[in-house]
Amino acid sequence: MHDVVIRGASPWGTRHAQPVDVAVDGAAITSVAASISESGGEEWHVGGRLLLPALVDPHHHLDKACLADRLGAASDLADARARFGELRPHLTREDLQQRGERVIRWAIQHGVAALRTHADVDAIVGLRHVEAALALREAFADRIEIQVVAFQPAGVALSDEASWQKLEDALRLGCEAVGGTTGSRGREAPALMERMLQVAERTGRRVDLHLDETLDPAVQNLAELARLTSRHGLQGRVVASHCCSLSVAAPAQRAEAIRLAAEASVHVISLPLSNLYLQGRDSGLRGLAPVAELLAGGVNVACGSDNVQDPFLPAGNADPLLAAQTLGLAAHIADPRYLLEAVSFRAARAIGLSASADWCRPGAPARFALADCGMNDDPVASLAPRPLVVFNGRVVRRPGDSACDLPPLRAPQKE
Ligand SMILES: [Zn+2]
Repeated sequence: MHDVVIRGASPWGTRHAQPVDVAVDGAAITSVAASISESGGEEWHVGGRLLLPALVDPHHHLDKACLADRLGAASDLADARARFGELRPHLTREDLQQRGERVIRWAIQHGVAALRTHADVDAIVGLRHVEAALALREAFADRIEIQVVAFQPAGVALSDEASWQKLEDALRLGCEAVGGTTGSRGREAPALMERMLQVAERTGRRVDLHLDETLDPAVQNLAELARLTSRHGLQGRVVASHCCSLSVAAPAQRAEAIRLAAEASVHVISLPLSNLYLQGRDSGLRGLAPVAELLAGGVNVACGSDNVQDPFLPAGNADPLLAAQTLGLAAHIADPRYLLEAVSFRAARAIGLSASADWCRPGAPARFALADCGMNDDPVASLAPRPLVVFNGRVVRRPGDSACDLPPLRAPQKE
């Protein structure tokens, strides 16, 4: 007997023209066939519905999430940072974990198998945010893979050695990556990037920077980040999140930065939800990275949620398909295959996880989500619900499971 058998599923983007049965044993897919005779400890007949590969949300801030009710929504990035800045010295680890847990549960319900969160670390909050994120990583390890970026907030001065020390302490605790922000650094940005990459090289960690989250055309750090990436031998291990101002760079400068980023295998993560909300209030610009140009230049571009119901973004539900749909609209990309890849294979590669287009085969990790739509439907366009989710062979969502903490729905008893 197999552990789990999904009968009559249509695996997304694969060679199967007809629905197949998928058997799972332990943490892996063990059989994919037109019909599997052996039964399963748990079986689901899914009527030809679309089976999606593991969704990956490569950019969150669980420490900031779900604070919109306390802090209100900001008018721009500086205002959002100021609102959060007043509260952050007072946040308890319990509060950080409770809000983080809420978002993680939503993500699991949406079929997210891996999620990367940035956690603030500096001399003011110390390791509290990082410890909360690492505790969540541990608590949910059997339901979702969480990565933690030790994130140095924008206000930390380059000379603030106490904060740099905390950053290294956070890496010793087990953060997978190191990060910071360049957008408001002015001429200090190259020195910040250099030091971040030095730390990453020395500690064997990956890098995920909030790069140029601004529409100031004078702020252009992607080319330098790419040069530093090659110099430190970190090709493929560096993410440039946001890259908003690249969209307003002079065409030649933009082309050169994209060429260098592709050469150094720098990944770009576009965060359309927060960028649409926070950027371009005066100019009317959309504030997104030039996604189509980056893709045409050979750069891996993924997509993520960023913020969820906090001062940086009053909306959101940790559904990567919402982020992907929004990216399509805002960046004028109508290719449904790319949009799903941006929150699956491409996002996985950006954060250092293996991902294969041939994902539904014997031996592959049993990480997938069933979409409540047909094999020829577009799950991004329809934001198809995902009533059945499997993570490493374990069924972590079943039809009827609630996404909130309220009691189950009940029909009134008949007399
Ligand atoms: Zn962010």
